Amino acid sequence: MNSDHRARILVVDDEPANIELLAGIFEDEHEVLFATNGKRALDLAASARPDVILLDVMMPGTDGFQVCEWLKSERATANVPVIFITGVGDTEGEARGLELGAVDYVNKPINPPVVRLRVQHQIELKRARDQLTRMAVTDGLTGLANRRQFEETLERENARLARTGDALSVILMDIDYFKPFNDTLGHVRGDDCLREVSRVLDETISRPADLAARYGGEEFGCILPETALEDAAAVAERVREAIVELGVPHPASEVADHVTASLGVATLHCQPRQSALRVVARADEQLYRAKAEGRNRVCAAGSAER
Ligand SMILES: [Mg+2]
Repeated sequence: MNSDHRARILVVDDEPANIELLAGIFEDEHEVLFATNGKRALDLAASARPDVILLDVMMPGTDGFQVCEWLKSERATANVPVIFITGVGDTEGEARGLELGAVDYVNKPINPPVVRLRVQHQIELKRARDQLTRMAVTDGLTGLANRRQFEETLERENARLARTGDALSVILMDIDYFKPFNDTLGHVRGDDCLREVSRVLDETISRPADLAARYGGEEFGCILPETALEDAAAVAERVREAIVELGVPHPASEVADHVTASLGVATLHCQPRQSALRVVARADEQLYRAKAEGRNRVCAAGSAER
């Protein structure tokens, strides 16, 4: 969805007069793209990611049904709502379109107020769905990925890297003495602290394939695909330093007068039929060791434990 309130509508019709009519209905409120054949429609749908597609059934060459089938079979376009434009009294076509995954249909001749409302309805539904999808994988307080996304990403990356036997590293991190921080300064300051630390984490864990997540409470997790233990430990050390540099005052810490964090690092050599959760358990052991050894430090699993 575009960031402003304009949606992007793809109109597919072989008759320029229909495209003109439909564009006229929407172009004040929304961005309208158009294609006059199926092939062009598929290209545009994949590249421009429209929010709604208005699709003529009757077109020479690739007809609307074929276009719809292809759209629904491709991951990039499967969730884009398709509204069929059908001929007068074409009830068979309407049924077939809905079977193929279209969300609605409109009849020719085009009735502008009806088309406008039906399209608007689908735009609103898609916005709500997109927002739910985002919320389901995002931590509301910090905006980082949530634990669910962390676990899904871990399994997916493990499966992907198992093909090459590549390494995947995990960092687990706890903010030191966070409960005393909250007890002393209150939960509003506690939430501010979580957001600040999250921002630092997000900035430091910055390669495209990396993921930084809020694992729960004051605990964070990072996934670093194709990263050896030593490199992951270096990243963890940069995170630790950046949190120290934030200089958030922490009157209740026993290790510093500012907020610090403890980090555990472990590496998995990905193999088929092996659960990636093992690496989280090992990173957790290292986190526990970092705390036991005095906090505000990074501990990494030794090579013997690989
Ligand atoms: Mg036509």
